[in-house]
This record gives sequence, C-alpha cells and structure tokens, in this order.
Amino acid sequence: MAYIICEPCVGVKDKACVAVCPVDCIHEGTEPLDMLYIHPDECIDCGLCEPECPVTAIFADSDLPKDQERFIQINADFFRNK
Ligand code: SF4
Ligand code: SF4
Repeated sequence: MAYIICEPCVGVKDKACVAVCPVDCIHEGTEPLDMLYIHPDECIDCGLCEPECPVTAIFADSDLPKDQERFIQINADFFRNK
C-alpha cells in the first residue's frame, strides 16, 4: 500500500505534504501533470501528509475515490524512468 496524490493538487502545489513527510518521498513534477507525486516504493504509509493537504488531494491507495483511480497509473507513469 502507499498514499497517492490526486487531481486537486494540480496547479496548487503548496507542498504542505512535503514539509511533514519523514522520508522525503514526495516529489514535484510537471509531466504527465503539474503536481506532486508520492514515490510508491519509498512511502512508509505513515499517513502524516493526508490531513495536511488543504485541498484533500491525498488518499491511501486502498481508499481512492472512484473518479480518482486513474491517478494510480499517472503516478506509476511519473516514476517509471526514475
Ligand atoms: S504517508 Fe507518510 S511516508 Fe507516505 S508520502 Fe505521506 S508523509 Fe510521506
Ligand atoms: S499538500 Fe496537497 S495540494 Fe499541497 S502539494 Fe501536497 S498534495 Fe499538493
């Protein structure tokens, strides 16, 4: 399991989540979308970032809203070559 950042972060990017992540696994990027991304192998599932997000963009992957499920693939695409 890991946490996933979804659509509400696009264009917001205030990085409140980055400030609290104990393992620095939240990365900024512009492709495929201009947002922040959580590295799925580095995230330790502590959940600290979730309540910090002012636009409710962060969910556990097991708890993703139906209309945000595509962000699992978007996230995987972002880290594919990293
Ligand atoms: S759940 Fe914890 S480890 Fe994972 S991205 Fe959020 S703050 Fe970082
Ligand atoms: S706190 Fe939310 S809106 Fe801000 S950068 Fe993190 S995921 Fe994006």
